[in-house]
Parts: sequence; structure tokens; C-alpha cells
Amino acid sequence: MDIATTSDTSIPNADPAELTRFNALAARWWDETSEFKPLHRINPHRLEWIDALCGLGHKAVLDVGCGGGILAEAMARRGARVTGIDLADKPLAIARAHALAQDANVRYAGSSAEDWAVGHAGNYDVVTCMEMLEHVPRPAAVIAACASMVKPGGWVFFSTINRNPLSYLMAIVGVEYVLRILPRGTHQYRRFITPAELTGMAGAAGLVLCDQRGLAYNPLTQRFRLNRFMGVGYLLAMRRPDDGKV
Ligand code: SAH
Repeated sequence: MDIATTSDTSIPNADPAELTRFNALAARWWDETSEFKPLHRINPHRLEWIDALCGLGHKAVLDVGCGGGILAEAMARRGARVTGIDLADKPLAIARAHALAQDANVRYAGSSAEDWAVGHAGNYDVVTCMEMLEHVPRPAAVIAACASMVKPGGWVFFSTINRNPLSYLMAIVGVEYVLRILPRGTHQYRRFITPAELTGMAGAAGLVLCDQRGLAYNPLTQRFRLNRFMGVGYLLAMRRPDDGKV
């Protein structure tokens, strides 16, 4: 059976090749001209959107698949108490060193979402899981773990890449082969997730969709912005209902 469709939870829900790739690139995580340039460019936009919806100040936030901490640190600078988790140890080492140097209020742990969920049920006001689900064999399990860790009334933010011919053309052919913004093999088409699939998986985990944005890239200006077109990259804001109401 394909690992992507099995629900056997004894199989680790991580792709070793993905973790090896992120470990190999980790030293350049905070180099804004490196493979991580897109994450640096996206970051102010997603941060504004998240903060406007949930108000990050003094919130307990979990960042799942935090990597080198680009979003985690930015949320901490907005006054959140942030924990970042990731399964790749080199990005985590970079994240720890960077947070120390910047005096950022973030703590980091090497863990999957599913393992961290054990003992952290309902612990967080906000859970973020950005640009990570498309690297995981069974995203539904990560989504369910994220949902279980947020308090009633709390927010869960996801971002990933849609799956359709246009997203193949833009996110793989365009980004990896033509513009060469990301190394070849960074993304696998079969792991892309449609907004309907993501909303469905999150709904099955008890989350309700509150807001959504598309992620647009202009290759001429090399700028990103959030808009209404969700055909390629996109972000979803979900909430765990509070007493049956959002
Ligand atoms: N969320 C960050 C980093 C995105 S890169 C940001 O948007 O800035 C994707 C990250 O997901 C990498 O750091 C990688 O190590 C991590 N990752 C991949 N599979 C994972 C898994 N199964 N569990 C936890 N982290 C994972």
C-alpha cells in the first residue's frame, strides 16, 4: 500500500529524503539570497495576515515544521510566546543560534506534530504550519495533531501548494527549472494539496475555515503578495470552535 494512503500510525509520518534535504541546506537558512529567499520574502505578508486575524501579542504559539525559525522569530517579535518544532536537527540548531543572537523569545524542540501533541492537547492559542504539509507523507495526521493542540476558540494557520496543471507549471517548472529559485526536487507534485482537500482534512479534525488567501509571485519585481487567487500557493486560517460557535 502506498505510504501516502495508509493510516498505519506505526510508520513514521516523515520522509527521510525531505529531512536530509532541509538538513543539507540549513546553514543558508537566514541568507536572504539563498534557497530560502522565497520564505524571507513571503514572511512579512503572512505575518501581517496572521497577526491581524489572531492578535499575536502574549499568545502561546506553536510553529509546526518551523525550520530555521523565520516565522517563529517574527511572531515572537510581535509579542507571542513561541515554540517551534521540526524533525530536521540542523535547521533547529540554526534556529536556536539565531534566536539566541537576536534575543528572540522562542524555544525549539525536535519533534513531529503527532509526538508533540501527546501531552500538549489544547495548549496553544495559535498553531501555525506553513510550507510544511507538502513535504509530509500523511498530511491529515499532521493537521489532526495541530487541531488537537489548539485551545477552543484558537486559531490554526496552514499554507501549502494547490494541485492542478497551473501549480505544476508555476511551482515546479517555473520555480525549479526556469527561474531556478528553488533547487530541483524541492517539491513533488503528488504531495500538493487542494484547498478543498485541506479544508476537508481540517474539518474532519474539528476546525472551521475562517479566512483564505492566495500567494502571488511577480517574477519581474521578485515580490510576493497575498490575494484572492488560490490556484498555486495559498494560506488558510482555521479556528477550533468555542462552545460550538466561532
Ligand atoms: N515553516 C517554515 C519552514 C518551511 S520548510 C517556514 O515556512 O518558514 C519545511 C520544514 O518542514 C523543514 O524545516 C522540514 O525539516 C520540516 N519538516 C518536513 N517534514 C516534517 C515532519 N514530518 N515533521 C516535522 N517537520 C517536518
